[in-house]
Amino acid sequence: MALRELKVCLLGDTGVGKSSIVWRFVEDSFDPNINPTIGASFMTKTVQYQNELHKFLIWDTAGQERETFSTLKNWVKELRQHGPPNIVVAIAGNKCDLIDVREVMERDAKDYADSIHAIFVETSAKNAININELFIEISRRIPSTDANLPSGGKGFKLRRQPSEPKRSCC
Ligand code: GDP
Ligand code: MG
Repeated sequence: MALRELKVCLLGDTGVGKSSIVWRFVEDSFDPNINPTIGASFMTKTVQYQNELHKFLIWDTAGQERETFSTLKNWVKELRQHGPPNIVVAIAGNKCDLIDVREVMERDAKDYADSIHAIFVETSAKNAININELFIEISRRIPSTDANLPSGGKGFKLRRQPSEPKRSCC
């Protein structure tokens, strides 16, 4: 079975639950007293997706600011400008278990995600809601390997350039 490595970077403000999402996905557990991330942490998890194994290489960053939805828009701008061209963006509206203190309306988040062609799911790392689905959606959106390309699309064949047809003068 082909193994593909999918690089995932979690971005967002401190306290939104990035590390908890990773922890839920990788370890299937939740720690209400999770330590704040210092710098960045790295974890992996391999799951089967259709006839491939997807190894998620997950970088979990330490956010700094605290105004989540507007910061998100700045991150997306950065990614579009400086990230690779076919990047998959997924927006997790985390802590959906806290229904009484909702900060972003689901409709607003969904409309924004649609406008930038991003995946959108409301998640709860605490109650294990939509965490696996988030990563399955990423698997689904990653362009499938083109069978015509060698080594699963990672490489390319070097071929002799066809020489310019020689044009005889006159
Ligand atoms: P990070 O700074 O974005 O990595 O956030 P953390 O994963 O460290 O979580 C910050 C706080 O939010 C911690 O107290 C977590 O227990 C809590 N938290 C994370 N995810 C959830 C969730 O889905 N629901 C609730 N109620 N609390 C959560
Ligand atoms: Mg963290």
